[in-house]
Amino acid sequence: MPPLPPGNVRSGVPLAPFTTWRIGGPAQYLAEPGLDEIPALLAWAQSAALPVWVIGRGSNILIDDAGLPGLVLLLRNTLQDVRREGDFLVTGAGVSLPRLAKAAAAEGYAGFEFFIGIPGTVGGAVFMNAGFGPGDPRDTKALLHSVDLILPDGSRETRAAEALHLAYRKSDLQLIPDGAERPLVVGACFVLSQPGDQATIRDETRRHLQERKEKQPLTRPTAGSVFRASDGIPAAIHIQQAGLKGHRIGDAMVSLKHANWIENVGHATASDVRRLIADIIDTVHFRAGIHLFPEVRILPP
Ligand SMILES: Cc1cc2nc3c(=O)[nH]c(=O)nc-3n(C[C@H](O)[C@H](O)[C@H](O)COP(=O)(O)OP(=O)(O)OC[C@H]3O[C@@H](n4cnc5c(N)ncnc54)[C@H](O)[C@@H]3O)c2cc1C
Repeated sequence: MPPLPPGNVRSGVPLAPFTTWRIGGPAQYLAEPGLDEIPALLAWAQSAALPVWVIGRGSNILIDDAGLPGLVLLLRNTLQDVRREGDFLVTGAGVSLPRLAKAAAAEGYAGFEFFIGIPGTVGGAVFMNAGFGPGDPRDTKALLHSVDLILPDGSRETRAAEALHLAYRKSDLQLIPDGAERPLVVGACFVLSQPGDQATIRDETRRHLQERKEKQPLTRPTAGSVFRASDGIPAAIHIQQAGLKGHRIGDAMVSLKHANWIENVGHATASDVRRLIADIIDTVHFRAGIHLFPEVRILPP
């Protein structure tokens, strides 16, 4: 075991409570760092040859039942600044997306309403380009001006949004696998460009929440859409047509309400979900000749 660095690093911390699926074993080490603590933690992990994992609100990840070796940086409670600077909203990476939506609304700006129902952080939204489906303009890319990064050597860098090449559920940050040395998003700058009146923004926000309630299984632990759309066709259509709604392995079940969501109906393990994902991929490939690719990040990859 490497000597612990100064600061609040805990060992053997269960990670399931930090994921929306409520699945996953413990982190070997876990820290919830403020901005100034991150470089020292990265240096420590490097010196001890430990992988580093970043978790926002854990709403798009499947953590292995054995947990994660190395150091987990959990950013749901830190990096919480939100401030307006002229035509921009500048936020820490740990800010939740519903809070971001509310902050833009409070400033009298529209365009952020869709974030209200996405239970991730700003960092996770940048990494995943969170938003609606392919071709829909409502995504992180449409609002992002630039990001603040901490690089693996601990240095800071501000990068223009274009340099990240955000596309449907993609960014260049994904080119390096989870656990490997890669830039960490610590803040983001969003453009306020659509002034709107409070009542219209409020109605649009309510409409988003209502639509989600109708279409999505929000009463059980899930990670939202499990697969990416392929060729612009929602994965839910392929999965439903393959007759997989309600298909269950252990306590992991293809949602009856939305075929691209997998519900944890009790005490599902990561192994249950992985086997179900593999079953879905095989069945859809067999029936429709289409290969589905997971959108959720499987940790370790
Ligand atoms: C009920 C529900 C509804 C959802 N609806 C949508 C939707 O409409 N549209 C959509 O796009 N997604 C949706 N999702 C998925 C998810 O909320 C988004 O992908 C979100 O952006 C993930 O953010 P997070 O903070 O939870 O990231 P995590 O799940 O914690 O992490 C996801 C990935 O991002 C990386 N990451 C996280 N933070 C950082 C950071 N600061 N720096 C670098 N890398 C980072 C992680 O290492 C990991 O690889 C939904 C999920 C749920 C449970």
